[in-house]
Amino acid sequence: MDLKEKISKAFEERFGNKGTVYASAGRINLIGEHTDYNGGFVFPGAIDKVIMAEIAPNGTDKVRAFSIDINDYAEFGLNEEDAPAQSWARYIFGVCREIIKRGGTVKGFDTVFAGNVPLGAGLSSSAALESCFAYALNDLYNDNSIDKFELARIGQSTEHNYCGVMCGIMDQFASVFGKKDHLMRLDCRSMEYEYFPFHPEGHSLVLLDSVVKHELADSPYNKRRASCERVAKRLGLETLRDATMEMLDSVKSDITAEDYFRAKFVIEEKQRVLDVCDALVAGDYETVGRCMYETHNGLSKDYEVSCEELDFLNDIAKECGVTGSRIMGGGFGGCTINLVKNELLDKFVAEAKTRFNERYGHEPKVYEVIISDGAHKEA
Ligand code: ADP
Ligand code: MG
Repeated sequence: MDLKEKISKAFEERFGNKGTVYASAGRINLIGEHTDYNGGFVFPGAIDKVIMAEIAPNGTDKVRAFSIDINDYAEFGLNEEDAPAQSWARYIFGVCREIIKRGGTVKGFDTVFAGNVPLGAGLSSSAALESCFAYALNDLYNDNSIDKFELARIGQSTEHNYCGVMCGIMDQFASVFGKKDHLMRLDCRSMEYEYFPFHPEGHSLVLLDSVVKHELADSPYNKRRASCERVAKRLGLETLRDATMEMLDSVKSDITAEDYFRAKFVIEEKQRVLDVCDALVAGDYETVGRCMYETHNGLSKDYEVSCEELDFLNDIAKECGVTGSRIMGGGFGGCTINLVKNELLDKFVAEAKTRFNERYGHEPKVYEVIISDGAHKEA
């Protein structure tokens, strides 16, 4: 039974009628890491893994929601004090509240939802969930009058205000704006975006999830941010967006070696995103792959956000002749994203599983992804 059938069956059983079905996607980011808070570029795409929800207005002022995957039911009103206790339901409640706060309309509805975006693996299941409901409630109650960027912001504000996650806009942006066979370059300073073709004929995108997350005591993320801000300030800039290597080298003796290498990574990474876009237009996937390895190297050696397990997976990719491989996400654990020639795929995955298991006592999880459409109403 596919996802849609499963949801429709459960909806019918629980509520005795039919609703409209919506879906939104998880995402990958091909390149552009730790660039968002430096005013640079990110380069995400929506994937063929989604959260799907069937929804029908119920004529009351209450939401009645059933999560198939968690096998849990929640019922809540639409006022601020009605926040549900279950964390999964807070994503839906948050989206409703953020629409209402913006002057939009939401009334009571019944919903059953499920998905196949792995939870907490770095593919943004939470953004898929928010975007699915934001898109649906815009269609059902607001004549699609809320623009797509605002839908993404509604998801982001939901994370901030109802889920305690101070995320950027990339995940929700990718989930809402995703387009089959296209990646999106988002300028995190101007919020302008552009679609680029992604037709990796003969290649697959596969994620290897190390299933480790190193919790580090001294807030490494904030320290990286602080380094970047210090260097930008020294250069008289708002962010490192407009910095060049020449500028950085001219202040090298005034800054710490650590700050120098942090800024070097950010400056190089900005250029790599632009280079990858050019390469995609030219259909040059070898260059795309090379840039991915360079990003990994920079994240590992200069930005120092890798870990043993991720470097190990990257080394295996290199040894197997994989076209491109890098850490995806903030680092210290999570996934590598790999651009792999199809004829190498089985061998690479098998070897990564065996060797990782030998060393760390468990296999990485494997997710093959295809770049697909973002938020939409199901036909
Ligand atoms: P991710 O990196 O996947 O976004 P998060 O921790 O941000 O991880 O979000 C995961 C949370 O989103 C889950 O704990 C749950 O509350 C909600 N969620 C995601 N997918 C589903 C699903 N299929 N069913 C119910 N809740 C989900
Ligand atoms: Mg999330």
